[in-house]
Amino acid sequence: VSSRGCQKIRGSQIRDLIDSKHSVLFDCDGVIWNGEKVVAGATEVVSLLKRRGKNVFFVTNNCTRPREKYVQKFSRLGFADVAQEEIFSSAYCSALYLRDVAKVQEGKVFVIGGDGVYEELRDAGVPFVEGDVDDSGMTIVDCPLEADVKAVLVGYDDKLSFLKLAKACCYLQNGECLFLATDPDPWHLLREGRVTPGSGSLTAALETATGRKATVIGKPSRFMFECIASQFGVDPAQSLMVGDRLETDILFGANCGMETLLTLTGVSTLQEAQGYKDSDAPDKKDYVPDYVVDSIADFLPLLED
Ligand code: PLP
Ligand code: CA
Repeated sequence: VSSRGCQKIRGSQIRDLIDSKHSVLFDCDGVIWNGEKVVAGATEVVSLLKRRGKNVFFVTNNCTRPREKYVQKFSRLGFADVAQEEIFSSAYCSALYLRDVAKVQEGKVFVIGGDGVYEELRDAGVPFVEGDVDDSGMTIVDCPLEADVKAVLVGYDDKLSFLKLAKACCYLQNGECLFLATDPDPWHLLREGRVTPGSGSLTAALETATGRKATVIGKPSRFMFECIASQFGVDPAQSLMVGDRLETDILFGANCGMETLLTLTGVSTLQEAQGYKDSDAPDKKDYVPDYVVDSIADFLPLLED
């Protein structure tokens, strides 16, 4: 396998790249928006790609919203034409995994997470136990446990409590109980230079406590691409993955056989990408994007004529 290029592209190089693909997969945060702020030019880029007949998909590791809330967010930020079917979130794909792959029907899923995960599980008809019940004042020794928990699903949870972690540990003592994580993201940038721990950090606590490894559903796992491919018949060789985080988005693209493009409007830097390219560790090569642009706004001049 030839090593990936980390090539900064512009002008006609971007046009040739887009012309060679029929689908473009966009990560969301850091690529098309940052929190509640749209990346300049992103709405036009999405519309123009669609007008050129490209399939456009959105692939996000953010499990905090159900897809219908993403539709509202797209519309609020000025995207006129994004449909729920084009949005693949780690919460939605986790629900599909539990329904279609793990086939949890008889038992229940114990959830560390929030409304985004609950609503997707409800839509998919997957029975679950909310971690958020009021058992304040109890300890893990005296709080009740469910008898039929078949899987523990861990996602971003800003109401995480010690008791929720402790319950998850108890369920995971049973080797037959599946251990799933919505995504492996270590942290996220918030406003004013603040950061928040991501799902990956919560999952790591449980991995340490149980000596087990979680199965990751979101990027960089191939499962999210399989969800898209099974619904739209997308060919990875004719698809481009656009992302801002090397360890999730770019690795995801490589894992799925897509070409990858790093934008510099989010978390990873060109120096980090070059660092992976120059490193001797062969397992780091899949973190190297094929192409780099400053922003997806760089697509604009090529799509407009
Ligand atoms: N999970 C949470 C809780 C987040 O806040 C974010 C980004 O803000 C993400 C995941 C990453 O989302 P994406 O994959 O769209 O970059
Ligand atoms: Ca991102």
